Amino acid sequence: MRIIFIIALFVAALHTTAQKIENIIIVTTDGLRWQEVYGGMDSAIANNKKFHRGDSAYIFKQYWAVTAEERRNKLMPFMWSTVAAKWQLYGNRKYNNYVNNANPYWFSYPGYSEIMTGYADTAINSNSYKPNPHVTVLEFFNQQQQLKGKVAAFSAWEAFNRILNEERSGIPVVAAFDTAAVSALSIEQQLVNKMLSDSYKPWHQDECLDVFTHYAAMAHLKAKKPKVLYIAYGETDEWAHAGQYRSYLDAAHQVDAWLQQLWNYVQSDPQYKNKTALFITTDHGRGDAVKTEWTSHGNSIKDASQIWFAVMAPGLTAKGEVKTAQQFYQQQFAQTIAQLVGYTYTAKHPVAAAAAEIFK
Ligand SMILES: [Zn+2]
Repeated sequence: MRIIFIIALFVAALHTTAQKIENIIIVTTDGLRWQEVYGGMDSAIANNKKFHRGDSAYIFKQYWAVTAEERRNKLMPFMWSTVAAKWQLYGNRKYNNYVNNANPYWFSYPGYSEIMTGYADTAINSNSYKPNPHVTVLEFFNQQQQLKGKVAAFSAWEAFNRILNEERSGIPVVAAFDTAAVSALSIEQQLVNKMLSDSYKPWHQDECLDVFTHYAAMAHLKAKKPKVLYIAYGETDEWAHAGQYRSYLDAAHQVDAWLQQLWNYVQSDPQYKNKTALFITTDHGRGDAVKTEWTSHGNSIKDASQIWFAVMAPGLTAKGEVKTAQQFYQQQFAQTIAQLVGYTYTAKHPVAAAAAEIFK
């Protein structure tokens, strides 16, 4: 009798954990280094004339502190208060906690494809690669009865139309200057679309400023209540390539503020409250501060495969910054994302196993 009772309790506990997470929001910020996520601003870069552009005072005022812990708090206060206090962060190599690209290229399309397909296909070797031949986890979600028509993606970069194979997948992918979204736009969505088309375009038609992607995604979240939402920010990568350290840090700081905004919304809405996971990561790393390689990435840049990820979800153990020696690969994210919402992602291509440690 007692054993049956205990088993029943155990099954009930498993059931509620599995049932709890009904929605997931995936956020990526392009090429944000683990070095800044875990260590905050790097004074060697900020002191270099080539990168501070005469504005080192601003960078130090905003982001400098003596310890790495204080600096990262200043750069990403939400990550280091809420996420670190209640959930899990991986990839601080100081503790031999390693996260890497499995693909051998260390740039964007291969990285995002690896995140979304769980497969480091070496054929995917260019940012101008054709529409993804593989069915991504988002497309898989959109084929599930409970999730059909409740999946959407917003990205600053135009390539996501191909990475997520918008045409085949049937998922609305609002990328760069796309304004088409699910019909019957709210007034807020119409305004965001108008501001986007009238905005400054530093990267021409390839990429918009993150602010438009963010508010388009927020407006969609409020108006359409998707169960799966992907938001892909791009400015961290663009400003790093441009060698503008201040704007790179500001972009990371802003993404952190938007994560807070997203989480506040999620926790204020009955569809999402305590039933939503957030998975946060990046497509690739960048070089080290030495030899000024932090601006760049790709497999000719040492260590540019080093990445990080964070996960927030009701029911997960509060591990904070994980300080044990572990190795994860980006190809594990797709199945991890599927399992967070109670699915097993299957596809015609090989799918790497989930990062089982996060569920322990
Ligand atoms: Zn990238």
